[in-house]
Amino acid sequence: MARQAAAIRLNDLTLGYDGHPAVHHLEGQFAPGSLTAVVGPNGSGKSTLLKGITGILKPLGGSIERSGLSTRNMAYLPQSAEIDRSFPATVADLVALGHWSKRGLFGAISGPDFAAIERTLEAVGLVGFEHRPLDTLSGGQAQRALFARVMLQDADLILLDEPFTAIDERTVSDLVALVQRWHGERRTVIAVLHDIDMVREVFPDALLMAREPIAWGETGEALKPENLLRARRMTEAWDEHAPWHEARHGSAH
Ligand code: ADP
Ligand code: MG
Repeated sequence: MARQAAAIRLNDLTLGYDGHPAVHHLEGQFAPGSLTAVVGPNGSGKSTLLKGITGILKPLGGSIERSGLSTRNMAYLPQSAEIDRSFPATVADLVALGHWSKRGLFGAISGPDFAAIERTLEAVGLVGFEHRPLDTLSGGQAQRALFARVMLQDADLILLDEPFTAIDERTVSDLVALVQRWHGERRTVIAVLHDIDMVREVFPDALLMAREPIAWGETGEALKPENLLRARRMTEAWDEHAPWHEARHGSAH
């Protein structure tokens, strides 16, 4: 049966914390089956946007329409800083359980059978690691395990927050291939990324953020040098913690 690809529409969306906007004027659509990179300087609101799409963060204004989708059909991989790898669990536990950091772990694996877990571990190159405690894994191995979990969730919408940061090159290229495979399967994939060259090579669409969308569309057009410069200047101008002289001169470090 054909996969019903998920579409996400943002209607003048404002997201923030404790009533204070962090990003606003988000307007546009992630098309069904699209593969989009979210790009922008630190603090430009990329992670905030992903949390809004998951529903973890409720809109302060505007709305998000999710069509062809329930939260069950969504897989979300947070930025690694938000993941606690000291948690006493094995690779197989991690892959088997969905929102492990929220729900905790309750003993033996139930639900997905071990064969399904094995298939995902094979796809990410972690066969033989089933019973390894998470805190013994390298950064790259841990990221492979997290991708196996995403794969097992078999989601129509996949959200990845900086999935390739601080991992070895070999792992990056293996995991990029998985992202491309998910795209080929008509899943809707949205990934926050820093490597502009990789974005240009692999991601057909890009959303450039600076507390508001600077450009959104075909990657080559969206990530034109003048757009990248503008995104940097606008993020600095908004950030009250940035030294004022930098914001005023719009210095690009
Ligand atoms: P990015 O992922 O692009 O680096 P974020 O979405 O993490 O940016 O952050 C956007 C803005 O929201 C920043 O000013 C950041 O300090 C603020 N912010 C992020 N998370 C929180 C939070 N939990 N509470 C308050 N402010 C936050
Ligand atoms: Mg972030």
